[in-house]
Amino acid sequence: MRVAEHDAEIDVAVVGGGMVGVASAIALRERGLSVVLLDPGEARARTSYGNAGVVSRGSIFPMSSPALWAKLPTYLRNADRGLRLRHSHVARVIPWTAHFLAAARASAWERAATALLPLTSAALAEHMRLAAQAGTGHLITRPGWIKLYRTDDAFAGAALERTILQRHGVALEILDSDAVRAAEPALTRTYARGMLLPETGAVSDPGALVESYERLFLGLGGRILHRAVTRLEPGDDGWRVHHADGTVRARQIVLAAGAASGEIARGLGYRFAFAAERGYHCHFALHPDSPPLTRPVLDTGAGSILAPMGEGRVRVLSGVELNARDAPPDYLQIEAASREAAGTLRLGAPLDNRPWMGARPSTPDGLPVIGFGPRHRGLIFAFGHGHIGLSTGAITGRLVADLATGTAPAIPLAPFAPQRILRWPRWRRPEAGGSPA
Ligand SMILES: Cc1cc2nc3c(=O)[nH]c(=O)nc-3n(C[C@H](O)[C@H](O)[C@H](O)COP(=O)(O)OP(=O)(O)OC[C@H]3O[C@@H](n4cnc5c(N)ncnc54)[C@H](O)[C@@H]3O)c2cc1C
Repeated sequence: MRVAEHDAEIDVAVVGGGMVGVASAIALRERGLSVVLLDPGEARARTSYGNAGVVSRGSIFPMSSPALWAKLPTYLRNADRGLRLRHSHVARVIPWTAHFLAAARASAWERAATALLPLTSAALAEHMRLAAQAGTGHLITRPGWIKLYRTDDAFAGAALERTILQRHGVALEILDSDAVRAAEPALTRTYARGMLLPETGAVSDPGALVESYERLFLGLGGRILHRAVTRLEPGDDGWRVHHADGTVRARQIVLAAGAASGEIARGLGYRFAFAAERGYHCHFALHPDSPPLTRPVLDTGAGSILAPMGEGRVRVLSGVELNARDAPPDYLQIEAASREAAGTLRLGAPLDNRPWMGARPSTPDGLPVIGFGPRHRGLIFAFGHGHIGLSTGAITGRLVADLATGTAPAIPLAPFAPQRILRWPRWRRPEAGGSPA
């Protein structure tokens, strides 16, 4: 079908229909703007489809932590279960790597946590609001989640994390070995300690949640074009958004294409220190005799998350693979995570023909990019949510709508300014950046 150029200019074109793009589109419609959302429309191509569904106030820690230095030799040898490096690719993302290493300091880690806390604190309530409107409130529960430590040493190694959480007033409970077992009788492995974060929601089907938000957006009078954007063209009279079958004219653009955002921004002259942190999942049935797994758990020793996804079904999720977004999948990590999971839960049959793979849109300092493109009028960046985009995507939508309508953002956006990770151009301070159309 040929999609003709729309004569009427619309207010905002949103590029990318994962959690960040869909939530932005909804929030913009709620402010009365006309909105077209462009996305290829492949559910499994969204990272928002395949994640662990954790929505936690305590998810405030970037990957680049002060603990990195002690682990670096293990990481470089690909001997850590949580991280796999494709060395040839790491050489291709040197700006990201350099910035990532520079951020691995206690002071930067704590600063990042402070910046993320308002986002993670607002995440669950915003999802509850949207899901209630979308009729999918049942997909979100509030069971908390547990970080599990196999040894006392591993628990001791996470002391700074606990200190920062407590300093920020994030609720947590320390569990000893018996308390871990009592909290999750489905666990067959013995853990030395656990940390329960009660202020945490769990989504039992993240893909279905995004789709329900799409329907909500349509119900609010929004339009969706299932097309990949090929080029963004700025002009004196607004933007032309080119796709394979035509063009959309819009006064403002929201770039929310997840891990593809860096490449699209490059077409406009922006070079971000940006990378794809790939991840995998696969599903297993719990053995019929096993007690249910009642909440997501992170096995820090395996570097993987086990998340209940519907009755009797567990999603096993891998850690990070640093590799090109579109390189062929490498199932080594998820296979190892699945073997570990079989020692942690009584798993029955695998339920997938092959694992799912997605790419976390990754900034080196672990903070998303939410702000105006400094070289253009009416360009809003909303990407780079890394490990927490399913949860913080919803509230990001509200912030995008604040920017588009010239409203003071409800959450301070200076820490998320694009300029901090822009290699080029570097010629403006964050607060001097672009503006609405
Ligand atoms: C294994 C794993 C576990 C995770 N667990 C959690 C978790 O528990 N909690 C949490 O909060 N986060 C989690 N995340 C992270 C989270 O999934 C991501 O941060 C989030 O999905 C990013 O959302 P997004 O909308 O930016 O990107 P996406 O969901 O990837 O959406 C981007 C969209 O843009 C589209 N697109 C790409 N190119 C174009 C183009 N040219 N034109 C138009 N559209 C385009 C894509 O097709 C896609 O639909 C996890 C991620 C992984 C991999």
